[in-house]
Amino acid sequence: MRIAFSVLFFILIALLIPCAFIAKRSRKPIGASVALFLSAIIPPILGNLIIVASGNEIFSSVGCYFYFLGMDLSMYGLLVFTFDYCVIKRPNNGLNRMVNLLLIIDAIQVMLNPFIGHVFDTEMIMLNGYPYYRIRPYLGLTFHRIVDYGIFFACFFIFVYKARKSPRYYKERYIVIIVSLAVTCASLTYFIFSRTPIDRSMVCLGVFGILVYHFSIHYRPLRLLDRMLADLASDIPDALFLFDMYQKCIWANSAALRLVKVENEEYDKCFDALIDLFGPPNDDREDWMTRRIVGHGDDARYYTLEWHTLKDEAGRSAGVYMSVRDNTAEQQTYQQEFYNATHDSLTGIFTREYLYEMIHKTLMENPDETYYVVFVDVKNFKIVNDIFGTGFGDYALKCIAKWISTDICEDCVYGRLAGDTFGICLPKKYFDEQMLDMQLQDFIVVNGAMEHHILIHLGVYEVIDRNIEVSVMFDRAHLALSHIKDEYQKHITYYDDEMRKKVVWDQNISAQLHEAITLRQLRPYLQPIADSSGKIVGCEALVRWIHPENGFMPPGAFIPVFEKNGMIVEVDRYMWRCACEILSSWKEKGIDLFISVNISPKDFYFMDVNSEIRKLVRKFDVDPKKLRIEITESVMMDDLDNRMDILRQFRREGFIVEMDDFGSGFSSLNMLKDMPVDVLKIDMNFLGKSTDDQRSNTIVQNIINLTRDLEIESLTEGVETEIQYKALAKMGCRLFQGYYFAKPMPVDEFMKFCSLE
Ligand code: C2E
Ligand code: CA
Ligand code: CA
Repeated sequence: MRIAFSVLFFILIALLIPCAFIAKRSRKPIGASVALFLSAIIPPILGNLIIVASGNEIFSSVGCYFYFLGMDLSMYGLLVFTFDYCVIKRPNNGLNRMVNLLLIIDAIQVMLNPFIGHVFDTEMIMLNGYPYYRIRPYLGLTFHRIVDYGIFFACFFIFVYKARKSPRYYKERYIVIIVSLAVTCASLTYFIFSRTPIDRSMVCLGVFGILVYHFSIHYRPLRLLDRMLADLASDIPDALFLFDMYQKCIWANSAALRLVKVENEEYDKCFDALIDLFGPPNDDREDWMTRRIVGHGDDARYYTLEWHTLKDEAGRSAGVYMSVRDNTAEQQTYQQEFYNATHDSLTGIFTREYLYEMIHKTLMENPDETYYVVFVDVKNFKIVNDIFGTGFGDYALKCIAKWISTDICEDCVYGRLAGDTFGICLPKKYFDEQMLDMQLQDFIVVNGAMEHHILIHLGVYEVIDRNIEVSVMFDRAHLALSHIKDEYQKHITYYDDEMRKKVVWDQNISAQLHEAITLRQLRPYLQPIADSSGKIVGCEALVRWIHPENGFMPPGAFIPVFEKNGMIVEVDRYMWRCACEILSSWKEKGIDLFISVNISPKDFYFMDVNSEIRKLVRKFDVDPKKLRIEITESVMMDDLDNRMDILRQFRREGFIVEMDDFGSGFSSLNMLKDMPVDVLKIDMNFLGKSTDDQRSNTIVQNIINLTRDLEIESLTEGVETEIQYKALAKMGCRLFQGYYFAKPMPVDEFMKFCSLE
């Protein structure tokens, strides 16, 4: 027995020392208190080892001191450990201080025992033939035991309390401690009352220390982890299947069972059910990470499958888990967003950006097909909106979109380019011009009581170079439309490269105009105007552009461009100025001729023509009579009253107002009687070239007669022959202009022509 217990105590001490050391070195927060407790229980075990092993009175007494003082230390360590283990903050109050004080007092009174002998002494007994020194307790020892038991029970109850309060999975870490404490306590009590010389409770205390070490430093609550992981897997919305290495499903979470419609946890059925749903996996399972669609149309559901193989350390497959995520909601949102972004909200057809993308794709995918890109323009759509309201306008646009999608070409690519324009790309062979033209002849939109004929024009560009941007193709198709303005008879027009060249030309000359004026590349040419006796009485100033690269440019090459973009204002202002300069120099030289200047209808939009010319006349000190104002009938087309006022104003100020190009356009004899004009310019080119032509003769004769009655002077321009001249003079015409006399010419030539130099 002596040897057995000695060895046992020794082993315990030998185990506790490294355990204390490891606990101290561990990074765990509880490590320090575990190390303290383990270190504290070594002295009492050592004390008992000395008592048991020595069999000597003095050594046994020394062992007893180790034992009792060590127990005080152990209780202190137990207390510290208890609070740490139970994760309770140790109270720093009077009770705590009292406990510490009691332990100190006890330790002191034990140490006083050699002098007073009030704690214990030893008596020898023989056991199995060996002498043992047994403790004989006195009052001091009773005090010692009360203190230690008190602390011991306090700790015990703290553990019991924590065990009761903790969740189930945490209880085991407390229960082990509680049981060990109870066993230790029971064996200690047994030792006290049995009065055996060997304290067997030290074995329990040692084992308890090792358990403390294990549960505090190494133990991981595996059941807790298991449960947590299982709960986690059960609760996630993804379907999870676990298969063993023989493809047998060993577990599936509730989402998985719902997915494959397996009930009562019949996991065996899962694999087949999965194959029914998604089809068989690839040979290489690693690849079974795919997106699958189950069902069609609105009922389609979208899944992402992931297949993971678990491998052991040697790389052998140990099992497989598979997750299935239902992406249907995400897919539906994505598809909805994609639809919204790519489809026009009103008509439901492609938006411009998406149309461009799809056309590009179509062209690239079908390199051998010839395609048309068609620009669909709804004419005067603003008026439709204004008259019938936007509701009808929207309805009309929907009808057009429907017409495009059903009548033009079901399979072609089409979309809405902007408000009232649409775009189509279709194989040339499907473009049936005749049929479309017929449909467009009477494209009538009827909405309830309202109905309206919508004028639609199609500009067509044949795709020759597929590498140019789709937007440019539409620009070209659009450009083609500029050839049919607001016509009701012609609906379809084709782009040709001349159109593009024309645009480039227009842009170039527009960009150069400003500089051309500054550098005086624009020149006034003068065309003489004669009276009936052949005498030159004045001239018309006509612009020419002496272009550094293009050479001599007649007004027909640029005036229409500037008329269109409004830059004509610059040209005219410049020409009026030139005319005033010439008149001013003539005045100095005593030359008594007038100059007619042209005023474009556009000028009236962009400036106060009247004040502009008045300022020039004043500046150059020119007699207003010498600067004749040529306007065309189209000036009177809009804002008639205001334009009349302007003309009257000119006349009041002494200018002579001429109505140019009479006979062209909408010449109205009726209008003439109210017109504040002094001269009517009758253009022979509009009336017919030959004076032999009886009909035009009659017309001219009548116009001349009428002007005479209205007291308006008549001037025929475009007089090319003597016969014309004579005939017109005979008819009573007073002024003549035309190649018969001279073509327009530079100012100095004009001077020579008139023998003014
Ligand atoms: P317009 O004002 O009717 O000018 C008369 C045009 O008839 C001139 O053409 C002139 O050269 C041409 N002409 C004169 N006599 C004859 C003839 O016997 N036979 C034929 N076939 N033609 C004749 P041009 O100079 O080419 O001017 C063309 C048009 O350009 C002008 O028609 C006028 O509308 C416009 N234009 C010319 N210069 C200016 C300008 O400074 N300002 C504005 N706004 N327009 C101008
Ligand atoms: Ca003119
Ligand atoms: Ca004219």
